[in-house]
Amino acid sequence: MNIHEYQAKAVLAQFGVQVPQGKVAFSVEEAVAAAKELGGKAVVKAQIHAGGRGKAGGVKLAKSIEEVEQHARELLGKTLVTHQTGPEGKVVKRLLIEQLTDIKKEYYIGLVLDRAQGRIVMMASQEGGVEIEEVAAAHPEKIFRETIDPAVGLNPFQARNLAFKLELPKEAINKAVKFMTALYEAFVAKDCSIAEINPLVLTGDNDVLALDAKLNFDDNALFRHKDIVDLRDTDEEDPKEIEASKYDLSYIALDGNIGCMVNGAGLAMATMDTIKYYGGEPANFLDVGGGASEEKVTAAFKIILSDDNVKGILVNIFGGIMKCDVIANGVVNAARQLGLTKPLVVRLEGTNVQQGKDILNQSGLNLVAADSLADAAQKIVGLV
Ligand code: GDP
Ligand code: MN
Repeated sequence: MNIHEYQAKAVLAQFGVQVPQGKVAFSVEEAVAAAKELGGKAVVKAQIHAGGRGKAGGVKLAKSIEEVEQHARELLGKTLVTHQTGPEGKVVKRLLIEQLTDIKKEYYIGLVLDRAQGRIVMMASQEGGVEIEEVAAAHPEKIFRETIDPAVGLNPFQARNLAFKLELPKEAINKAVKFMTALYEAFVAKDCSIAEINPLVLTGDNDVLALDAKLNFDDNALFRHKDIVDLRDTDEEDPKEIEASKYDLSYIALDGNIGCMVNGAGLAMATMDTIKYYGGEPANFLDVGGGASEEKVTAAFKIILSDDNVKGILVNIFGGIMKCDVIANGVVNAARQLGLTKPLVVRLEGTNVQQGKDILNQSGLNLVAADSLADAAQKIVGLV
């Protein structure tokens, strides 16, 4: 799960991470009121679940209340297109009104899980405020890393090591160590999957501040963080993914045109690979899970059908715990309720396969049966 910058800063501040003073605004009036509290000068920042706002015109410096008002009016309701939003962009519905920071230099600090080591790694670079992926590709030597032992946590010497490599002035070293320690504590306490401070800034007074903040959370740990779940902004999410999460379906929207309904994440990945192998593009990843009910299967099929990009559907089920007749009933229900005009290829195998096939055959639905995954993929690619 992803949250907004202003929310991430509030979470981090609870752990003692230094952030600029600021306030969220949902309207021009709220933006003006927040700027007054800050003494008039402020930075107006579009709050969307995507980075690259600076380059796209989503971060505006204002020297007066009038300028804050002007920027707020312009940004609220605007569709911001950044390199992370995709070409359709994202509509700005919230702003962060923040005190201006006197920036001496911008840095990068990030925490990620290194799956190869099975440990959290803190990364730091002097190349702040730019895309870190580009730095990593062109100048990997400019990114410094410390691997953290979970039993000990971030050692002070590791944080000092990074602070020295950033060549921070001596007045800022201890502040940076405190910053990094607090950031690590927040990351662990809140079960984050990513924490990225880009830029971390050194101010004219040699303070270190998080000028930007991005936090992602491990969905599997959200059950123990109600405070974080409350920060969810469903406006920022794909409506199909929200609908899927209501039914506890693992669904990810993709760019292709073949809708997939599969049970099991591994089989879903194999199905997408096979579609691509035969020259097609999947429209989604969908795992209906092991013991899905007919209701859940119906919901899943409806979600696929609601996607206008879908030109054909491939149902690929290997019935183990999942029974083929349950899948067949779900497909028939959804198709009857919504009307099915798109080509449908079905491959069923495993528990109750004959009952499943009978239900589909007697449904009157116009579907194409397939015998294997390769056969099914070739058929649906041919049909779309
Ligand atoms: P992003 O582009 O979405 O990552 O948004 P950021 O929050 O990182 O802001 C982009 C850039 O705006 C930063 O790298 C800064 O250079 C600039 N910026 C943001 N806040 C301030 C501020 O208070 N003062 C000044 N001078 N620049 C700022
Ligand atoms: Mn940034």
